[in-house]
Amino acid sequence: CGIVGYIGGRNVKDVLINGMRSLEYRGYDSAGVALMDAPELHIVKGVGKVADLERILEDHPVSGSQGIGHTRWATHGGVTEVNAHPHSDLSSSLVLVHNGIVENYREIRRELAEGACGDYKSETDTEVVAELLSRLYSARGCMVEALVELYARLSGSFALVIMAREAPGKIYCLRKGSPLVVGTSPKGETLCASDVPAILPYTQDVVYLDDGDIAELSSEGILFWNASGEMLEKIPTHIDWDV
Ligand code: GLU
Repeated sequence: CGIVGYIGGRNVKDVLINGMRSLEYRGYDSAGVALMDAPELHIVKGVGKVADLERILEDHPVSGSQGIGHTRWATHGGVTEVNAHPHSDLSSSLVLVHNGIVENYREIRRELAEGACGDYKSETDTEVVAELLSRLYSARGCMVEALVELYARLSGSFALVIMAREAPGKIYCLRKGSPLVVGTSPKGETLCASDVPAILPYTQDVVYLDDGDIAELSSEGILFWNASGEMLEKIPTHIDWDV
């Protein structure tokens, strides 16, 4: 139910945990993070509060230069560690987090089963999206093109945030129906989140993604495309709140 993503020079785990805490008001039953220390992707997740995840992270420390975090409000599949996000594709080449509901996940799962390799681990509507995206990305060789096609294939509501082994230094966002904001800090950090409180400690200039928007975050800044794959200019909104 809450998403945070970060690329930058601070302790990535701390930024994700703080962001997830600031989104706790949205409600959730489990929490998880993925950190990328290219080409390594580390996922740590569990049932319970962000504080429980922090305890797991103390026992299983992970580091990386970029990461994504998620607090889950289960809609498809029980409240279990396996069903918690992030999820990866069957070959563990990418990780993603998802807010919302993918209505046609059964259909997609059936389609993908032809030529399938391996088994899905979870009961969620999310894991199959990771597998579909992974196949589109392998076929196209370009994440933005893969996301344009993914958007056309998915029905329901979703905010998706993705990191791929083959795209180190980048975090991708795609949304329809579920909110996502992105921002760049004056220190060259880039962030995304379901809501501004997770971003405000770093920057007050944010862009609210519209339905169909794709964003590519890197240490150079943020690039935007629409659902047809055309590049967009987006003017940040200045948030005049004190945190
Ligand atoms: N539908 C997904 C799940 O059940 C995401 C739920 C959410 O928005 O947290 O895992």
